[in-house]
Amino acid sequence: MKRNNFLKILAALPLTGAVMKLKELGKMTDSLISTDKMPVLFLGHGSPMNAIEENEFVEGFRNIGKEIPKPNAILCISAHWETRGTFVTAMKNPSTIHDFGGFPQKLFDVNYPAPGSPELAKETKDLIKKTEVGLDDKWGLDHGAWSVLKHLYPDADVPVIEMSLDYHQTPQYHYDLAKELSSLRDKGVLIVGSGNMVHNLGLIEWNKLNTAGYGFDWAIEAGEKMKKYILSGDHKQLINFRSQGKSFDMAIPTPEHYLPLLYALALKEENESVSIFNDKAVAGSLTMTSLKIN
Ligand code: ZN
Repeated sequence: MKRNNFLKILAALPLTGAVMKLKELGKMTDSLISTDKMPVLFLGHGSPMNAIEENEFVEGFRNIGKEIPKPNAILCISAHWETRGTFVTAMKNPSTIHDFGGFPQKLFDVNYPAPGSPELAKETKDLIKKTEVGLDDKWGLDHGAWSVLKHLYPDADVPVIEMSLDYHQTPQYHYDLAKELSSLRDKGVLIVGSGNMVHNLGLIEWNKLNTAGYGFDWAIEAGEKMKKYILSGDHKQLINFRSQGKSFDMAIPTPEHYLPLLYALALKEENESVSIFNDKAVAGSLTMTSLKIN
């Protein structure tokens, strides 16, 4: 190989690596740097206690963080931020929101100081044509985001923005909106849906929160059916979850923990596959089932 060509290849290499870091986030604007296509994740977050406990699910989150290229930034769609209209967090330093009650003080003491990215927020706003996305300066990172991201990126060194769920919209609307985020994947942005496929808070057996594999019959049935549709790419059935019968109605009494799944699936391209991890029920009425799409 001629030395010249070798140098050219060398010069091109950093552009192909998704691990490339931005020198300055301030330069993110108009265009985050092109990278290999980032995977998309759906993470079953379960109990907020997963933020500070050691268990197989936490290990699953940690492993996935090591397995995928380190992103330039994260866009998280969390079950725990519902709004009228769609918003993205646009502050430089989002605060850690402890949006729960009745848990030990040490959970309230957790701080996840990942920076925000006003630039990515603006780029996301400009990208979405389906609705006028609002730039938010009041929210921050709720536990749907930080309780899992702290395991993927314990150093809190990847900027994170959140995008809210418009609770007035249909599942099909959310699915279509998510598709508009697709090009961010080519700019090193890791898109994470954080919820739970099966999530019935009213029926949780709290004393079985640490018993992995403990699921009610309807929860297992719904979870299996969801996975079947996910693996066969039959998203239509998942979008029409209200026509799937009793087990789905039990699994999805309200849609906020389920909708982040639709965001992740909408971003799957035809040539991509889905791998499943943390695939267990807990506390009877929750599943921790998580996905990596790439
Ligand atoms: Zn939750």
